[in-house]
Amino acid sequence: MRKQKITILGATGSIGVSALQVIEQHSDLFEIFALTVHTQKEKLLTLCLKYQPKFVVISDELSADWLKNQLDMNSKTEVLTGPLALSEVASDSEVDIVISAIVGAAGAIPTFAAAKTGKKILLANKETLVLAGKLFYQIVKESGSLVLPVDSEHNAIFQVLPSQAEHIKNIILTASGGPFLQKPIEQLEEVTVKEALNHPNWEMGAKISIDSATMMNKALEVIEASWLFNLPANKIDVVIHPESIVHSMVRLIDESVLAQLGVADMKIPIEYCLAYPNRIKSGAKELDFECMSELHFMKVDKKRFPTLNLAYQVLEKGLDSGCILNAANEVAVDLFLKNKIKFTDIYALVVDALNYFELEQYNDLETLLYKDNVVRQKTLELATKNFN
Ligand code: NAD
Ligand code: MG
Repeated sequence: MRKQKITILGATGSIGVSALQVIEQHSDLFEIFALTVHTQKEKLLTLCLKYQPKFVVISDELSADWLKNQLDMNSKTEVLTGPLALSEVASDSEVDIVISAIVGAAGAIPTFAAAKTGKKILLANKETLVLAGKLFYQIVKESGSLVLPVDSEHNAIFQVLPSQAEHIKNIILTASGGPFLQKPIEQLEEVTVKEALNHPNWEMGAKISIDSATMMNKALEVIEASWLFNLPANKIDVVIHPESIVHSMVRLIDESVLAQLGVADMKIPIEYCLAYPNRIKSGAKELDFECMSELHFMKVDKKRFPTLNLAYQVLEKGLDSGCILNAANEVAVDLFLKNKIKFTDIYALVVDALNYFELEQYNDLETLLYKDNVVRQKTLELATKNFN
């Protein structure tokens, strides 16, 4: 059988690295076509030498020049840069599979390019769906692209989803609660960046780690689930499950509950998507039931995690509210990571941005990305005005 050719958008990130680890175990099935990174030129050089992709993309032109100089004249790899390059390697006619693992709305344009050209898309970049889920699925329907969820909760649901949609009563996304599940609420204001980045169960990029600490990650995931599984907000629940062993559940109309379990390792959902509808080894550890004495489940405390409600508001209001939520959150998280605002200001700033903007209709991605830019600028202004 011909090997499947893969483009990884965001190859040096937490998901990108896990994806490469799965692919490496199955070099008889897959080969790397293109790898993209934002700024990490040394890491990209190492990847070029190891995987010899046909293309690599790096955002910054100087880094691209550096990389070209480092690569041997006989290197098979062509170095690309510039605004169109990500979309080119995501839509190239040779590519079978695109792993969408850039963080933030920056991942939307190449993920749309993959969708337009009918690729099999392994979607980790949930922000694409929060920003533009409706448009994305219009394109997916037209092109016949296959979108498979990498996010562990959505992957779990996808693995146990019944074939008949009318059998679903609701889906239940599990949330670990992040590093501050037990911290007294009045102390949240003073938590440090280092504490917020220290997720108890998963090693992830900085942005999603902070999103997990505020529970914004689960809010984004509720919106993501709504688009992926075509479900209304009232059929999507969230429960805290601190051990991250049950990755999510589907409750059926007869009160059966189907769940997917496994160790907290993104190689499992990535493997499932890569091989789908087949299964192959992921390289993850076995789940050891004899060492697992207790699993806990509890209600989300809305006072501790007010962010979660924002997802339900966005799903109710529609229009471009997802774009505003996402852009304001990206700015707020970045400001927190740079020690410019407090941890609790993240939520407050996002709410200020959501209150500031009128919701608008949109018919294309360009309109949404324009709004995304406007929201980012305004959120920065609001931060200076309200949180200094
Ligand atoms: P990360 O920060 O570790 O990696 C991000 C990657 O994107 C890097 O390769 C970086 O070079 C690239 N990148 C960043 N900004 C870019 C830009 N402006 N243009 C082009 N490339 C850019 O992030 P991650 O934790 O791997 O998460 C990636 C995506 O997957 C996010 O959308 C996240 O929500 C989702 N996700 C991650 C996990 C996880 O376990 N890490 C789980 C579920 C979903
Ligand atoms: Mg998740």
